[in-house]
Amino acid sequence: MSRDKQAKQAYNREWYQRNKERQRLKNLEWRKQNPERSRELHRKTRERIRLAVLNALGGKCVRCGITDPRVLQINHLNGDGRKDKHNGFLNTNRIYKGITTGERKDLNVLCANCNILYEYDLGRRTLFNDFGKESYKS
Ligand SMILES: [Zn+2]
Repeated sequence: MSRDKQAKQAYNREWYQRNKERQRLKNLEWRKQNPERSRELHRKTRERIRLAVLNALGGKCVRCGITDPRVLQINHLNGDGRKDKHNGFLNTNRIYKGITTGERKDLNVLCANCNILYEYDLGRRTLFNDFGKESYKS
């Protein structure tokens, strides 16, 4: 990184620290005034981060090799995905950081079908739990 760019980044960081609260309120107001645009930007950001996470993890299902991001899911090898899910948006960033820094080694990529089969293989999912008693009435 060039010295100019570093100086600019340092300035921006300092400026942000000085104006954090004012900026936060300004953003809040903008989101109130532009709810649809805000949701759209939020969705795009989430999607961009999700794709980056998938790519950082290899970009394809480790079982069948499919690369279509529409069906790819981040799989928790230890089955503790709920912990990550509860923290929502900010956590996607944290997961991505964890992957790029090598801290998170408990994740891989599976497609939706392979992910379900993986859960069955581990006994975390059963037909009975998925469809309930009603499905078996004759
Ligand atoms: Zn697959």
